[in-house]
Amino acid sequence: MTKPYDLVVIGAGSGGVAASRRAAAHGARVLIAEADRVGGTCVIRGCVPKKLMMYAAGYAQMLQEAAGYGWTGVSGRFEMSRWADAKALEIDRLEGIYRKMLTDSGVELATGHAKLLSPGVVDISGREVQTQRVLIASGGTPVHDAFPGLELAMSSNEILNLRDLPNSMLVIGGGYIAVEFASILAGLGVNITLAYRDTHPLRGFDVGLRTRLATALAERGITLAPGVGLIALERGAAGFELTRADGSVLTADAVLNATGRRPNTAGLGLTEAGVELDAYGAIAVNADSRSSAAGIWAIGDVTNRVNLTPVAIAEGRAFSDTEFSTRPVRVDHRLIASAVFTDPTIASVGLSEADALKLGPVDVYESDFRPMKTAFTGSNQRSYMKLVVDGLSERVLGVHMIGADAPEIVQSLAVALTCGATKRDFDRTIAVHPTAAEEFVLMREPVRRHVLPAATATPTATATAL
Ligand code: NDP
Repeated sequence: MTKPYDLVVIGAGSGGVAASRRAAAHGARVLIAEADRVGGTCVIRGCVPKKLMMYAAGYAQMLQEAAGYGWTGVSGRFEMSRWADAKALEIDRLEGIYRKMLTDSGVELATGHAKLLSPGVVDISGREVQTQRVLIASGGTPVHDAFPGLELAMSSNEILNLRDLPNSMLVIGGGYIAVEFASILAGLGVNITLAYRDTHPLRGFDVGLRTRLATALAERGITLAPGVGLIALERGAAGFELTRADGSVLTADAVLNATGRRPNTAGLGLTEAGVELDAYGAIAVNADSRSSAAGIWAIGDVTNRVNLTPVAIAEGRAFSDTEFSTRPVRVDHRLIASAVFTDPTIASVGLSEADALKLGPVDVYESDFRPMKTAFTGSNQRSYMKLVVDGLSERVLGVHMIGADAPEIVQSLAVALTCGATKRDFDRTIAVHPTAAEEFVLMREPVRRHVLPAATATPTATATAL
């Protein structure tokens, strides 16, 4: 019998690839199994092609703006098939880089479906391998069962492979994927109706961002259909028909179902190996990504902690450092920045105003302005920034922005929050001028001061939340 591997990783997405390379760098003998393309959701059918589509859509506005800056004869027509061809080449290139990174790291890649036969034995499409450890990094997949008929709709997977654009599209859901594709496809000229059951899109984000996103999307011509439950989707003579709880029916030529994603756990032999799932169907893990079964760990979306690529990568590397080096690492899930690639973009790190208020007194600073670049062309687009500050310690608890370059700006400010920056630290930071980001260090007076009863106002409670 051949020598067992130190580690078999199931799933060559961002998390699995990062974990396997880090383990190999520590000297482990590693095999990674992948049934589909190397790169996973983010590279092949998620973040990367989505952002390339967002860039494509952005040119529509840039062409308009150019006229305001004195350019003449600037016009054009978007051809989806040309974008699709270029995108396919780019994804092939990136997949090649991922494969090369694995090879260069000494990680063995096995193509095929992996299934646990027991904690130390994995079957990869008929090949049985022995291993000391298994890391499950199988990701997630779109759900189609929120209500009847959703199986008729496209998911983000199919949208990213379109070669022609429909005239009209219903986008179902109000989460990341729904608002991003509603915004992108509207930018490419599709007539979008965005249907979600809450009053505002992006449940969980700061309300200042949620309300302004709705306004901005509506101003860009997207029809918003908020605040009503969604009952059923059918295909009728006039196209797709979405029936809502108030009896109204929304119609369009095509439909995107963006009602969430679920962990990929089917067919992995988890029950046989003694791996417990939580109520959501995700692999239950502890702070070190260890599952209930000895020798089996899980990271990324299959664990449904914070379903973001950089989190999966951090979890994967932490696992490998802990298991294969002398310096154990644990991921801190409390302060994770995230961005929504709508137009305008959104980014946040830390607590929303509403969440901070549950912990103690809060000072809120805001800036709402027309950015120089678009104001020059007569546009009414606005940028909005908010700082949520602990009313006692002055520690900045949350940074929120909607507007051009929000993800780039908030990424940098996330470092300051990780370091525990206070409002005074922001105040003594000299601005970079002229930028939009400088507004974050120029907010002088709070627009609101929430003072809570002394009994609930403990700086410790707020500090430990972060
Ligand atoms: P989300 O969980 O973000 O959103 C799901 C949406 O579907 C919510 O608006 C939810 O409404 C709605 N929904 C669910 N069930 C029903 C129902 N029965 N009827 C009506 N509406 C329903 O999932 P996404 O698919 O948008 O994204 C999946 C994950 O992928 C996200 O959690 C995110 O972590 C990640 N992602 C991150 C991106 C980024 O970082 N930019 C981009 C894309 C994805 P309600 O809020 O009312 O429950």
